[in-house]
Amino acid sequence: MFGLIGHLTSLEHAQSAAKELGYPEYADQGLDFWCSAPPQIVDDITVTSVTGQKIQGKYVESCFLPEMLATRRIKAATRKVVNAMAHAQKHGINITALGGFSSIIFENFNLQQIQQIRNVKLEFERFTTGNTHTAYIICKQVEQAAPRLNIELSKATVAVCGATGDIGSAVCRWLNSRTDVADLLLIARNQERLQDLQAELGRGKIMDLNEALPQADIVVWVASMPKGMEIDPLILKPTCLLIDGGYPKNLSTQIQRSGVHVLKGGIVEHSLDIEWKIMSIVNMDSPARHLFACFAESMLLEFERWYTNFSWGRNRITVEKMDEIGRVSLKHGFRPLLV
Ligand code: NDP
Repeated sequence: MFGLIGHLTSLEHAQSAAKELGYPEYADQGLDFWCSAPPQIVDDITVTSVTGQKIQGKYVESCFLPEMLATRRIKAATRKVVNAMAHAQKHGINITALGGFSSIIFENFNLQQIQQIRNVKLEFERFTTGNTHTAYIICKQVEQAAPRLNIELSKATVAVCGATGDIGSAVCRWLNSRTDVADLLLIARNQERLQDLQAELGRGKIMDLNEALPQADIVVWVASMPKGMEIDPLILKPTCLLIDGGYPKNLSTQIQRSGVHVLKGGIVEHSLDIEWKIMSIVNMDSPARHLFACFAESMLLEFERWYTNFSWGRNRITVEKMDEIGRVSLKHGFRPLLV
């Protein structure tokens, strides 16, 4: 059995979804109440591969909300993640994806040190961040969506916002070694990590977001921002592809300018309907078919019986591992979202 640990994008989102999620008493409550809400299994899932194989899974709502980070309720945020992991393990789930901010909190606050959660000793090999598949899917979105906009990769400048992150660095590695993109612009706040990445790649220009946006033909957004930011679409090139892989989204507003195309990044489309309700709660356009690539990674590991933390730690994703997960992604009927 596979598991998915997820969370909603904001307090407002959580309040509006409380009833459907099984927390009706929290619909009118503020952040303090959500800080004390326990994790809960709110969805039982059946996924069928195009090979005919069927697997079962469960969605664990952690009740983490990005506002907990923005208001420095760090203890609440970390408790949400480890409690949800313990909950998944207690229910006998073999492999569980840590969706959205769950893996970011796990890494940033060194949660591998907290292995004992009451009577459960966390077995980390039962969890995966799902970031290898997410990075692979974003790279395929770059490769396949660019030609549709007549953007030639060999002449294109690609900016990666969040370049030094786990997903961002993997995207940079792939673009550098598997494509002929003309230029890579590396964006993040910590300069030392940017310089390390630049040295590893042997290329790439370190830049501020405001300096990079007017030069980019393609922008990959994979920064861990608890709240999306606004950008002025007029500073973008007349033809520009924006691939927003953030959860919550990095871009807070809908960009409406002809020639500028925004793609939901890190989202896959499955070839067959999935029986679940959680993707309608997170407002996916086609909830039976569309899902986060990190969630799909735990499904793939279950299909293949690869009970191992396939994606773990930070900045260790190789292009070979991306190939490996990409191969089984195709085999089971997932493809990158392109519209
Ligand atoms: P990491 O924490 O590993 O990396 C985050 C990156 O963002 C770092 O480079 C960080 O560098 C940068 N960053 C953070 N804040 C800012 C900012 N204000 N401006 C510029 N750069 C910034 O995160 P992940 O790679 O694990 O995840 C990235 C995003 O992808 C998150 O939004 C996450 O929720 C989402 N995600 C989506 C998935 C999907 O299936 N679609 C799956 C998993 C994650 P620095 O701190 O130096 O600025």
